[in-house]
Amino acid sequence: MSTLYRNANIWGSEATSILVRDGTIEAIGWEGAADQVIDLQGAHLLPGFNDAHVHIWKVGQLRTTTLDLRGIQTLPDLFDLIRDRLQTLKPGEWLYARGWNEANLQEKRPPLRTELDQIAPENPILLTRTCAHIHAANSLAFELAGIHAETPSPPGGEVHFEKGLLLETALGLIQKAMPRPTVQDYERWVLAGCEHLRDQGCTHATDPAVDPPLLQAYINLAERGELPIRVNVLYIRRPDGGKETYPLPEPHEHPYLRVKSVKFFADGGLSGATAALSVPYQNTPEPSQGVLRFDTDELYELMLEAHLAGFQIGTHAIGDRTLTQVLGIYQRLYTEHPSNVRHRIEHFGLPDPQHLNLAHELGIIVVPQAIFLRELRVNFERYLPESFKARCYNLRQMLDAGLTVALSSDGPVVKELRVLEGIQAAIHEGIRPENNLTLEEAVEAYTLGGAKAQQQEHLYGDLTPGKKADFVLLSHSPDDPQARILRTILAEEHPS
Ligand SMILES: [Zn+2]
Repeated sequence: MSTLYRNANIWGSEATSILVRDGTIEAIGWEGAADQVIDLQGAHLLPGFNDAHVHIWKVGQLRTTTLDLRGIQTLPDLFDLIRDRLQTLKPGEWLYARGWNEANLQEKRPPLRTELDQIAPENPILLTRTCAHIHAANSLAFELAGIHAETPSPPGGEVHFEKGLLLETALGLIQKAMPRPTVQDYERWVLAGCEHLRDQGCTHATDPAVDPPLLQAYINLAERGELPIRVNVLYIRRPDGGKETYPLPEPHEHPYLRVKSVKFFADGGLSGATAALSVPYQNTPEPSQGVLRFDTDELYELMLEAHLAGFQIGTHAIGDRTLTQVLGIYQRLYTEHPSNVRHRIEHFGLPDPQHLNLAHELGIIVVPQAIFLRELRVNFERYLPESFKARCYNLRQMLDAGLTVALSSDGPVVKELRVLEGIQAAIHEGIRPENNLTLEEAVEAYTLGGAKAQQQEHLYGDLTPGKKADFVLLSHSPDDPQARILRTILAEEHPS
């Protein structure tokens, strides 16, 4: 069965038609016969977008059950939202919210435990910062979790009982007291997240932190044929809050689900000043250089097991201190046990020239977020040492160093998930104007870059004949502010 799309603005080509047969691109510029002919009336046809790092289920959670605090500008507004939500809960039920960012709050500080106690004496509350690395809780939540003034901080985390804050792995202490989401909860959230991404033109996305029940939800949805886009997962090995290690997952290859990668968190975030730097941050309440989550030998051992089993590794690493640690381990793995599998670094926020060179030498794929330059810019300006600003998410430097770059949103860390806005940020909003990408580079990083990052560039990522016909149709060129998503089509969905 063949379908000819005519009268299209085909990305990267002068031709105006494209022939698809059985879900595979057969020819560009085809003028012959076809079983079916569709006139696209000048629509722009691009390879489907790939959001290479987006917490799909959390995006879905914020669109269904979690209270969304993104965009809130004062603490009284935040407290009002919480009061409203509490009206819908019974005493004792947990209130979970996400999205505050103290740099955007007039008060320039997080909500305090004692303030939350006044609003919610009868419900445990956990309010996750927009980065998901810092969390505010009330006294009842701490009490249920058995956390008190003398509770020691766990490795890779911090408990600040007086303020009511939990950093990094300390989240695990409180999660143990919260009701565990069921596989059905996860399925609902994943579907809501995937639908939303599909509406933004994504045919592919990577969920970068998947634990066993969430993985089961993905497998169930894939096997029932319900996933609306193709999902690649990075399976977490070390959940927060302890020394437990999940065993390596069963690899899984399905047209809509790929399980062949594992994830580690090596530091925190820049926007909350927890990524590990070689020099102190500016403007933090106490002097801070961020948090390295792992001892190097331990991280090496955990990665080695995955590397030897043929898994791809994706490591969250942002600060320069962390990049030195993680690239050093990757180098050791490739030297001692050569492999064709290209590992990834998620975010890659503050590389110096040596990091760029070493990443290139090792063939590491980097997965930064252009949209951070817009949404988290105030945080970067506030917390980053002056000498680090020019290299902050410097996409130009990454491409110039010869790296494969896969762009992504990291939603819901940011509110803006739209790939078209990510493209705008990449081409216009670098910390310095000379850091910007061209439109072609940005689109490639959101398509072929993502396919390479999930090791499937032989199947997806551009409009080469022989590849799967995963398309997005736009009303205008992707750099035109008027551009809208007209349709997202996966290879299996062409008319037949
Ligand atoms: Zn993330």
